[in-house]
This record gives sequence, C-alpha cells and structure tokens, in this order.
Amino acid sequence: MINVKKLVVGPLSSNAYVVYDSDANAGIIVDAGGDGTKIVALVKRLDVKISHLCGTHAHFDHILAAKQVKDVLSCEFLIHKDDVWLLERAPESIKKYVGDDVPEIAEPDGYLYEGYTLEVGQHIVKVLHTPGHTPGSVSIVSDGLVFTGDTLFAGTVGRTDFPGGNAEQLAESLSKKLMSLPDDYVVYPGHGRPTTIGAEMKSNPFIKIAKR
Ligand SMILES: [Zn+2]
Ligand SMILES: [Zn+2]
Repeated sequence: MINVKKLVVGPLSSNAYVVYDSDANAGIIVDAGGDGTKIVALVKRLDVKISHLCGTHAHFDHILAAKQVKDVLSCEFLIHKDDVWLLERAPESIKKYVGDDVPEIAEPDGYLYEGYTLEVGQHIVKVLHTPGHTPGSVSIVSDGLVFTGDTLFAGTVGRTDFPGGNAEQLAESLSKKLMSLPDDYVVYPGHGRPTTIGAEMKSNPFIKIAKR
C-alpha cells in the first residue's frame, strides 16, 4: 500500500507530504514549503529512504525548505521546467511576504513533465502537467490518489491572478486532466484538507464552470 503523511509547514501553512511504500521503505516528498527540520524528522521517524522531492510548482510557499530537505536527505529535487523562472524569483517573493531571512534556494536536479513516471517501492507515480495557477504546475498521481498543489483545493481552485497565472489554462487542466481521474481518487491539495475527485465534481463551483 502507498502511505501518505501530511505536515502543515511554513509561513503560508502549506502541505508537505511524505508518500511512501512501507514494505520497501521507499518514498518521495511532495512540496517542502518550510519547516525543513520537521519534514526531515518525520522522514527519519518513518525510516523511509527518500529518492525525490517533487515540487508541484515553484511558488515560495512550496519550495522554501527544498534546499535543506534535499541536502539532508540527499534526494533529487524535481520541478517542471516552466516554473524555473519562478524559482529564480523566489528570493524576491520571500523578502516581500516573509522577511529578509531568505534561505538558499534549491537548484533543480531534473524536471517533471507530462507522463514522467517514477517508482516508489512497488508503486508507480505519474506526473500530469496541470498549468494555470503557474505555467509549470503539475499534479502527481499514484494508486487512487493525486497531489494537486495549488491547482485544486477542497471546494475551490488555485488563483490565476499571480504573474504567469492563466484562468483558461487552469479550467482546461481541471476539465481535461484532473476531472478525468476516477471519482474515488483522493485529492491531496497544496493547502487545506483532502477531498475526492467525485466530491469536487459534485460541489466545487469552479469545476462546474470548468466543465461548461
Ligand atoms: Zn501557489
Ligand atoms: Zn501555495
């Protein structure tokens, strides 16, 4: 079975997920938006070997602790190429929203793209490119679950009024990619509580608009 442990981290209460196969002691991390020490401690407690840290997108609240986590756990940091410019702008955003204490920003070791797969023990994890919130936003799919970053939340969707945001792209990512996943898939968003594809199809007002 694939296991998911969530931590709420950083100045904007972002979700960081440890996704792992307990039989194989292998796992990945989805987003490290702060509190690197807390993330590392959880990984140590679970006794899981982390191969990759996957960024759903490069807004600072999802990558703030990426450098620390990547260095301590010696794993590869992956994001989509279309968000590299945001990674480069991260120090500016951190100064603006958090303060002058800017940590070192992680360099990507490789890139995520539509159809990219990686193994987590016995499980295959697959990447969907779901732009709109940012150009390089991705969703990460495995057996019965999907990490949606800031593309889809319980009851709402990601903002598209930040630089690089695009409302039409977001609607397309939702209707063509995320909403074609099975209803019972559990959605783990970048902020807030989990939900399911079916529940969002039924009651998320932005999905209703995206479907038209
Ligand atoms: Zn974001
Ligand atoms: Zn966010």
